[in-house]
Amino acid sequence: MRVLVTGGAGFIGSEFVRMLLTDPNAPVSPATVTVLDKLTYSGNLANLAPVRDDPRLTFVQADICDAAAVDRALAGQDMVVHFAAESHVDRSITGAAEFVTTNVVGTQTLLDAALRHGTNRFVHVSTDEVYGSIDEGSWTEDWPLSPNSPYSASKAGSDLLALAYHRTHGMDVVVTRCSNNYGPYQFPEKVIPLFVTNLLDGGTVPLYGDGGNIRDWLHVRDHCVGIALVAAGGRAGEVYHIGGGTELTNKELTARLLDACGVGWERVVPVTDRKGHDRRYSLDISKISRELGYAPSVTLDEGLADTVRWYRENRSWWEPLKKPVASS
Ligand code: NAD
Repeated sequence: MRVLVTGGAGFIGSEFVRMLLTDPNAPVSPATVTVLDKLTYSGNLANLAPVRDDPRLTFVQADICDAAAVDRALAGQDMVVHFAAESHVDRSITGAAEFVTTNVVGTQTLLDAALRHGTNRFVHVSTDEVYGSIDEGSWTEDWPLSPNSPYSASKAGSDLLALAYHRTHGMDVVVTRCSNNYGPYQFPEKVIPLFVTNLLDGGTVPLYGDGGNIRDWLHVRDHCVGIALVAAGGRAGEVYHIGGGTELTNKELTARLLDACGVGWERVVPVTDRKGHDRRYSLDISKISRELGYAPSVTLDEGLADTVRWYRENRSWWEPLKKPVASS
């Protein structure tokens, strides 16, 4: 199986590539893996360093909106796993154009190339944020989309395009929607690596609003196992949720991170809430559990401890990526 991974130099895409190339039990076993990545601010070849010398790996630096480059890269591939995206909500609030270009036009460019080449399977990686916010209960895969940020609106657009290529052209498309990921190699603008690296640097951490927003936390390895299960056995035209089963308010998460770094609440600075901040996300994961045997395996306690340890031991990875932080 020849697999093309877009965004494979980013946080989740690189975990997926490392998993495919190093874990003999991964649900997909590739003959070759081609990473297509533009290397934007969040793409980093260092994320692929552990598998750099694997002869099955090829890296192509290209933009998913570049139709000619995408066409060349897709020739001869059996499967596309599409991670490449602009992914940070706060950036989409200050500038949405790049989000629409990459997430919507880029996805359409890839779908067109996959259609032309008759690629066997197209796995589109998406997010629970496309549903908006839910006060009680959990979303099922048939829930109406109601995105609130330019980021989630652009992801919703790309999900609908991917599903439309299945319905219109009969393409073998599957869509995954996951909750908030954490783990090693996450760019230090997202809450967990931002907080951990600020705390390790002796700085403060900004807590949005009343800290009551609720997120479900999913270890990046569990997410990648779920994607590979869907890639290997998901039904064409279907959406599958991948969650971690661990809901926490941002305040509870902050308490755990302070504890893991051995510091107290004096390091927390309340800041004005994010515009349009979704209150709660919650995914029902019974479909992927029932159909494909998925279950998260990394507990939040062990996952957070490992993640904090990784940032502690890998300063040379994140220090160049950080802006100077406020000190306490
Ligand atoms: P990331 O920002 O760490 O990585 C994105 C990667 O895509 C980078 O390597 C970047 O260089 C590449 N990229 C961006 N624009 C590109 C373009 N135009 N052409 C080619 N490559 C481009 O993001 P991530 O956290 O790894 O997220 C990966 C996917 O998972 C995204 O589709 C995102 O929407 C989805 N997702 C992420 C989370 C999360 O918690 N991080 C949750 C749900 C869904």
